[in-house]
Amino acid sequence: MLTDLQQQPADALLALIKLHNDDPRADKIDLGVGVYRTGRDNTPVFGAIKAAEQILVDTQDSKAYLGPEGDMGFVKALMPYVFGKDSPDMGGRIEGMQTPGGTGSLRLALAMVKRAGYKRIIVGKPSWPNHNQICADLGLGVVEFSHAKADGTTDMDAVRGAIAAAEEGDAILLHGCCHNPTGIDYSHAEWDEIAGLLAESKILPVIDLAYQGLGQGMEEDAYGLRRVLAAVPEALICYSCDKNFGLYRDRVGALYAMVSDPADLAKVMSNGHSLARANWSQPPDHGGAAVRIVLEDEALTAQWLDELDKMRDRMREVRAKLAAAGQTGGVDLSPLGGQNGLFSIIPFTPEQVQAMRSKHGIYFAGSGRINVAGLTMGNIEQFLAAVADVTG
Ligand code: PMP
Repeated sequence: MLTDLQQQPADALLALIKLHNDDPRADKIDLGVGVYRTGRDNTPVFGAIKAAEQILVDTQDSKAYLGPEGDMGFVKALMPYVFGKDSPDMGGRIEGMQTPGGTGSLRLALAMVKRAGYKRIIVGKPSWPNHNQICADLGLGVVEFSHAKADGTTDMDAVRGAIAAAEEGDAILLHGCCHNPTGIDYSHAEWDEIAGLLAESKILPVIDLAYQGLGQGMEEDAYGLRRVLAAVPEALICYSCDKNFGLYRDRVGALYAMVSDPADLAKVMSNGHSLARANWSQPPDHGGAAVRIVLEDEALTAQWLDELDKMRDRMREVRAKLAAAGQTGGVDLSPLGGQNGLFSIIPFTPEQVQAMRSKHGIYFAGSGRINVAGLTMGNIEQFLAAVADVTG
């Protein structure tokens, strides 16, 4: 019976939105929800996307079904940005399909991993909570290793250990850039080492690239992904356009598979298609079509890249200001300057997280994860004073 179902815990971040909304203080700050915010504290539609949407409205003459693979023009237009302009499909070894966001891509990738007979997936801890949730739902075992050390650097010994201890039939999930929730990414030298270790192993890499362009730049943020792909025979790549094109609720993503023999690609992708059919049949079209229109037009592409650069510059500016504050009360904010993307973790105790909310009206996850884009030059001093107050 339906009443046999167990109550599920509320999503902690969604609960946080409500807490923030219910707070009457005018100077409250939301550092919870994972969306980019401008210096004016809003999340506008990209100008390039608005222009592309207008073109779509004016020119789209049918909304007939496209198929489980979605808009292949979108999927292909993205490939030079992800895999490099020189050989975007690596000699016919890479094919893709459109998915509902990065989450849809991860859902398909992990279901393919399961279907291909892999038993376990190695995941750094902490990770984006939905990684574990999808694995649990699919019955895919998760082996965890420590992603970062207390000093705010990557825990390379833990990666080396996890790869060395891997068994036949293991896959590994890696964040391509802008690690969520820590903001702590592998350096180029560390990616070189990881790529070499994976090349010697039989582990299947699944690379989640949800924030390309928000860390150091579009090319720079693809470094690790490209190094790993150059080293291994097979991989799955889960891509989200929801952050770097600001399309969040339109759900735009892609799944790419790389195989060693191009002759196997159609068979591998047919599994992506059949899994999509059983899950959502076809991805929503609108956002992917808008991204395709941007990428097919030189002027709109330049406008999009310019808007993306401004987002990244603003976040780097906030990070630099936090890092410059250094020791603030009982916490050292200097590591945040070298971290990437929307998120970083500040080692608050649960009591300090509560005090930030109740005493100062500043809301972020219980893990201490803050969305740095929630800070502006107008509220950062207020944030620093609150941090000094609750941790001092
Ligand atoms: N991977 C990571 C690491 C993420 O942080 C997110 C979004 N928060 C996603 C994937 C999925 O993004 P989307 O909204 O496109 O489903």
